[in-house]
Amino acid sequence: MDNVQLIDDNGKRNDGRGPEDLRPIKIEAGVLNNADGSAYIEWGKNKIIVGVYGPREMHQKHLQKPDRAIVQVNYSMASFSVDERKRPGQGRRELEISKILSEALERSIISNKYPRTSIDVFIEVLEANAGTRCAGLTAASVAMADAGIPMTGLIASCASGKVDGQVVLDLDKLEDNTGDADLPVGYIPLTDEVVLLQMDGHLTPQEFDKAFGLAKNACVEIHQLQRDALTKKYSQDPDEDNGEDQAGEEVVSE
Ligand code: ADP
Repeated sequence: MDNVQLIDDNGKRNDGRGPEDLRPIKIEAGVLNNADGSAYIEWGKNKIIVGVYGPREMHQKHLQKPDRAIVQVNYSMASFSVDERKRPGQGRRELEISKILSEALERSIISNKYPRTSIDVFIEVLEANAGTRCAGLTAASVAMADAGIPMTGLIASCASGKVDGQVVLDLDKLEDNTGDADLPVGYIPLTDEVVLLQMDGHLTPQEFDKAFGLAKNACVEIHQLQRDALTKKYSQDPDEDNGEDQAGEEVVSE
């Protein structure tokens, strides 16, 4: 696949984007009735739904933390989410993504408010086209705010990388499969904290700085979409507003 040209002579990528363009992103908050919080995201050809429960008492007592809540993510890709039917059940990749997303989300909550509890986050990937961990994390953060979980700020997430020798933002599946590097970043704009950073492939330190900067700037843009989704939900749905701080204390006061 090395001979695939990913950026044409006019600087356009296979889907018509420029090197620093995001795929189109749509976020909706509060899409499920039976979860405490939820969100749906379409990001390019990715479609992901997230349901959040909690904080609720942790049943496995040995996993309880006496001084704080923990976040348990279950990231799962549907069998029909990819071209060739994915093997059902959670594989090693899904376990790894669940773990790194749990750690990222745990950084964003004010966890000492709910000792001995668990916040359970179910990320269901319905259609996958690369960047699902970033899209899933972005949606999960909105779903946690929708559940009213106190947070220091929303986590926005986006990957950058390198294709055809050029640093680009937000790789799609073809670019992810055949490109030179992929750098997923999770960032809390409000506290200026990086909560997720992974890298596949090779970058020079200069390319890394450029790629990281692109992803971080994109996170600021995505953060605004997250806020818009929450604002839309809570301005449209007065019946469900029972006076409680449903959108998360710190988040609504941003
Ligand atoms: P991310 O989705 O966060 O970019 P990866 O880089 O591991 O995570 O995966 C890139 C893409 O490869 C996924 O979004 C999906 O489209 C595809 N993919 C991942 N796992 C499988 C699988 N088991 N079968 C088919 N395609 C897969």
